[in-house]
Formats: sequence, C-alpha cells, structure tokens
Amino acid sequence: MDIYLYNTLTRNKDKFIPLDNKEIRMYSCGPTVYKDATIGNMRTNIFQDVLRRVLRYNGYKIKHAMNITDVGHLVSDADEGEDKMLKSAREEHKSPYEIAEHYTKLFFKDLAMLNIETPEIVCKATDHIKEMLEFVKELVKKDFAYETSTAIYFDISKLDKYPILSNLNLEEQKAGARVEVDPEKRNPYDFALWIKAPENHLMKWDSPWGPSYPGWHIECSAMGRKYLGEQFDIHTGGIDLIPTHHENEIAQSKGICGKVPANYWVHGEYLLIDGGKMSKSLGNVYLMKDFIERGYNPIVYKLFSYSCHYRNKLNFTWDGIEAASKSLERLKNGYQMHLQGKDEVEDKTVEEYEEKFHKAINDDLNMPLAMGTVWEVVRNEKKSPKLAELLLKFDTVLGVEIDKQEEQEEIPQEILDLVEQRTQARKNKDWAKSDELRDLIQSKGYEIKDSKEGTEVKRK
Ligand code: AMP
Ligand code: ZN
Repeated sequence: MDIYLYNTLTRNKDKFIPLDNKEIRMYSCGPTVYKDATIGNMRTNIFQDVLRRVLRYNGYKIKHAMNITDVGHLVSDADEGEDKMLKSAREEHKSPYEIAEHYTKLFFKDLAMLNIETPEIVCKATDHIKEMLEFVKELVKKDFAYETSTAIYFDISKLDKYPILSNLNLEEQKAGARVEVDPEKRNPYDFALWIKAPENHLMKWDSPWGPSYPGWHIECSAMGRKYLGEQFDIHTGGIDLIPTHHENEIAQSKGICGKVPANYWVHGEYLLIDGGKMSKSLGNVYLMKDFIERGYNPIVYKLFSYSCHYRNKLNFTWDGIEAASKSLERLKNGYQMHLQGKDEVEDKTVEEYEEKFHKAINDDLNMPLAMGTVWEVVRNEKKSPKLAELLLKFDTVLGVEIDKQEEQEEIPQEILDLVEQRTQARKNKDWAKSDELRDLIQSKGYEIKDSKEGTEVKRK
C-alpha cells in the first residue's frame, strides 16, 4: 500500500518513493542538551517515533540517525547570541560536558517513559568535530564560504535559490530586522559555519582559522552525510526548524554536492498549553516526570497526542490527560477481553479492520483516523483472540504497550470461568442465571462491570 507524507519541500502530500527499497534512511534533529526536555519537545519525538513505526509496519527496515547538540547552538534560533550550552554551564556552575551528559541522560529517560524507540544511530556533535571541519573546508574550497574577523560564513548568494524550504521573504525580513547585521557579512542571511572563539571561550578546537567552534547547522549536514550518505530519504524535526536550521542545512549540502540532502522534509506542529505558549513565566512548563508525580502512566501522553494530527497544533490540558488515561485503561481492558474471548470472528472482518487502519496511517500518519479503527476493534461485541492479535499488530505503530497490564493482580481461572459462563448466559438472555453468577462472583470477592467493550472483572 502506498505511503503519503506531507513534504514541506513541495508543500504537497507526496507519494513516498524510497531511494532504496530495502532500507529507509532518515535523519531527525535531536535535542540541544542544556536543559530539561519539555512535553512539547516530546510531542515532536512522538511524531518521529510514529513515522518510524509506520515505515516498519509497511515492511521497511530503517536506518535512523539523530544528533545530540552539545556545542554551538546559539541562544536564539535565528543564529544570534550566546552559545546555549555555555550559558547553561555558567548558570549551573558545571562544565559544558557535565551539562550535556546530565541532560542527555534525562532525555533518553523521557523517551523510555514514552516507549519511544532509540534511533539506530545517535551521534554527538562534539564527537564529530573532524567531519564538521572537513565539511567547512570543502565549502571554502568550493567558494561557498568566506572568512571574516569573527567567523567563516556561508555565502547564500552562491546558491541558485535561497530559501527553498520556507516562505521567508528575504527583502521583507531585511527591512524589519531587529538585529544589527555584521558589517563583514556579504549578505544579511549569510550564516556562520564556524566561529572563531573569544579568548576565554570554554569549548574550542584547533582549526585552520585558529581556536574555534562549530556553528549550529553544520553538525546535521556533516553527520547526516557520514551516516546516511549525501542523499537520504527523510529529514524530520519540529516546525520551528524550517526557516533557519533546515534551510541552512540544505544550503550547506547544496554547496557540497549540488543536491538537497533529503527527498522528504517532514515537520511536526507545536504543542500548546491551555491554548497558549508554554513558558517559564506562566509556570506552565511541563516535563514527563510531572506525569509520574501526578500518578499517571507517562504512556498516556502518547495516546493523548494521537487525538490530533501531527501537522495540527495540539492543546494540552490535564483534563485531556485524565480522559486519555481512562482511554488507555479501556484500551487495555478491551485487549484482555478479546484475548480471553471464545467467539468466532470471520477473517474478512479482521482484514477489513486491518485495511482501514493501514490506510489511515499511510495517509500522512493520520493517527486520529487510525484510532477510530482501533476503538471499533475494541468495541466489537464478539470477543476473540484474533481481534486481540490484531490490536497487538496495531500497537506496533501505537507503541502504548496495549498488552502490558497496569500492576493488576491476576484474576484466578475459577473467576474467569464464571465470568465467561455469565457472558454466555447474557447472550442467551438468561437473566436469572446471569444474576446468579454475578452474585456468586461477588461472594468470592470480585466485582464485575459491563460496558460497551465487554465485561470487566476486578477484586473488590
Ligand atoms: P528547544 O528545546 O526549544 O530547543 O526545542 C527543541 C525542539 O523541540 C525544537 O526544535 C522543536 O522542534 C521541538 N519543540 C519545542 N517546543 C515544542 C512544542 N511546544 N511543541 C512541539 N515541539 C516542540
Ligand atoms: Zn539538525
């Protein structure tokens, strides 16, 4: 079945045609490890995880690389200001390497909480200084870069077209620019590939231009090329990366080989909190550990995010999380109910469900639509292990651990048999027998609840 992805490069939902039919090469811009990752950051990671899982559902192998930015990302995403890592190191009285190690660990802990798969390749910027320097040297040699008293800049006027990914209007932007443009730059939108380090700068490396450090964008171009080749299939990130970071990554790669590095550029929209921006001053910056503190299984956040398409803004509220938590419980119970069921379900029915789910996920990862089919399966009145198996298959995409029971004690077989007898009695409309069995189950210390998904049994 064909896969369609919205491609920021073409502004179109494009049919996905891989470069190599066996293995998809994909790059995701990873975190700058200078502070806690928020649930906003995690929304982008969830979308990237779903994309991986959907590709695999379609039979592809994946080679996915993600960088860890531990140097060179300036405070403003528009490439100005202080280095984010150094600012944090100064404020926390630690070395930049300690800061990076600390927040990298926390980042992977968050991914694990959400059952997000670790990409095949995780690459740190500081481990790839050599590759980045080579890249910059090549750009200088090809006359796409020039030296000033402070940095090596990329010359955007050497490209046939810039920008190509975003709707940036350079003339308009120039007129309204808030910052002083470095007078040594040839064009206001030229960006730093490599920055000459001031005397007391903490992170710096020898280079043909003296002690210096990388600009933010070069790491993704250099590591992408090293691990995935000059051209690969998919490049992902949050929507905020389009106008500066991704635009400049493309510029760098075009300077080297004349080609846009990835064929499909896929971007996830932002998470809003109570309808607005997440900010420290509003006290509404939430982290994954807040879910645990509030008594929620963090996976609930993943399910919550499936209520909205990845290209739409998603509004976060704790009420929404409460509802998602109940949904997760219903989903897991629904799975168990099918697992223990004894009804016959036609293969055709299973195939129809599968087809509907597959179509939805292949249509630009339409998770809200796919969830509709998941719920149809859960609610099917016929309880059959075949449907449980189908839900497990769907969970290879959802990744919500549908078969993992929430610290519930096991229900003894004797009780399960009584529940099954009662279900049969209800099917035969033998209400007297059904009531009698309910009383018997209750007398043994268990209570039962009937819902659209079936009958649930719990210790009293
Ligand atoms: P930051 O921590 O702001 O550097 O963000 C790292 C990446 O996480 C960004 O490039 C975005 O792609 C993503 N991100 C940040 N905030 C949000 C948000 N509220 N919703 C979705 N993604 C976000
Ligand atoms: Zn990047």
